[in-house]
Amino acid sequence: MSKSFSTDKSIHIILGGTFDPVHFGHLRMTQEMLNRFPAAKVSLMPAAYPPHRPQPGASPQQRIEMLQLVVGKYPQLSVDTRELEREEPSYSVVTLREIREEIGEDCLVFLMGTDAFAKLNEWYEWQELITLTNILVVGRPSSQLPSDGEVAEFYERYAIADLDELPEHRSGKVGFCQMPQLDISSTYIREQINQGFSPRFLLPDAIIDYMNQHGLYGLNPNN
Ligand code: ATP
Ligand code: MG
Repeated sequence: MSKSFSTDKSIHIILGGTFDPVHFGHLRMTQEMLNRFPAAKVSLMPAAYPPHRPQPGASPQQRIEMLQLVVGKYPQLSVDTRELEREEPSYSVVTLREIREEIGEDCLVFLMGTDAFAKLNEWYEWQELITLTNILVVGRPSSQLPSDGEVAEFYERYAIADLDELPEHRSGKVGFCQMPQLDISSTYIREQINQGFSPRFLLPDAIIDYMNQHGLYGLNPNN
């Protein structure tokens, strides 16, 4: 039987992260996805910090508002606030089960950088993730796909040969793609501000304006 990609099924792409703050590394990743999969909808899904780990900077509400500021004018992008609305920090597997219930048999893609993927085996019930979603790993400077260990074996086992076929799979495949490497991280942005340097051109001006208005990360308003 020949495979046919049913166009009435949507492609849901999720980028989870702490987004403290959101920056051009995250945002370019979403655009690379839309360039590759024009019918996709991409959700940015901010996660709660574990209770024992202090929040580095912005409150959950402020992280949501910064994301909403950037996605507002792009209809294919949205912010999924569910994890920050819960009382307790939630495991990705639990969130993905919930999303799977909502979308039926549509294609689901969970996006992550190589640094996050390399530690996938630390995630709660990580082996179940692949039964719920596809995983698309994007190259990030200073980190690579693991070459041995559990996560490397996992990658080998579920790797998709042709990334263009990803929309045909509801779940169960792992892919890798490169984008122009942007060596930007939220940590670097917070450190730059901490040292009195401007974070300009690492993230949208609208986010810097928001950070100024809300006195976030100790930003000097002259920046
Ligand atoms: P922090 O330094 O606080 O950890 P971060 O820049 O890593 O922040 P996160 O919110 O932790 O941002 O990242 C969310 C997801 O986006 C992760 O899967 C991460 O690997 C990916 N990501 C973040 N920045 C980049 C980038 N510049 N290139 C590729 N992937 C990225
Ligand atoms: Mg990170």
